[in-house]
Amino acid sequence: MKHIFIAGNWKSNKTIGESAAWVAGFKEKSIALEGKWEALTTVVCVPSLSMQTVKEALTAAALPVAVASQNVSAYDEGAYTGEVTGKMVKEVADWVIIGHSERRKYFGETDEILKNKVEKAKAAGLKVIYCVPDDATVVPPGVDVVGYEPVWAIGTGKTDSPENANSVVSNIKSKTGAAIVIYGGSVTADNVATFVAQPAIDGVLPGGASLDPEKYIRLLAAAVSNP
Ligand code: PEP
Repeated sequence: MKHIFIAGNWKSNKTIGESAAWVAGFKEKSIALEGKWEALTTVVCVPSLSMQTVKEALTAAALPVAVASQNVSAYDEGAYTGEVTGKMVKEVADWVIIGHSERRKYFGETDEILKNKVEKAKAAGLKVIYCVPDDATVVPPGVDVVGYEPVWAIGTGKTDSPENANSVVSNIKSKTGAAIVIYGGSVTADNVATFVAQPAIDGVLPGGASLDPEKYIRLLAAAVSNP
């Protein structure tokens, strides 16, 4: 059976209390994933302030869900007010998501800045999910998972076709040598199976559908259930 990688991106949602409630809700419904965990690697990309709480709650509940940061500094520690370095993130998370289109659009993160972020993340021992909007965008060396996310499909309810997503993912694999490439853009429990059934697609990156723990569990279960 194909191993599926799923990264839920909460974006700028959830206080620390709401994050703790998410883990409690996830634990309550996690029976639906019994016997399915072996086929699945799942990560939740949470706000910085919630990372420690989420990590502790997942560990206490013995849930095999990894924590990812949604950002990392392009600099080392020092006089960079407001920045969170890779070393700080690594204390509470194993993963970081870099290059999301919202970071490129609203925070002016260029390919050059993103390359520096990947370097700092890798130097700190973090695993990197790197997002690109197409197969022409440069992917820095060393990333662990590439996310193909067409901008027009993010948060719109419109998805790429599974066949086209598969073809873009194949191109990314052959251009970059990336072993794991996933698709993101309005993925839900109802459409996830059509994406992971594609031969080149190794998983998905849901945003909105990861905010409710029950919906996220339904999505995870649907991804690893044979039709
Ligand atoms: C995302 O957060 O990268 C994303 C694809 O969001 P959504 O699933 O809501 O489109």
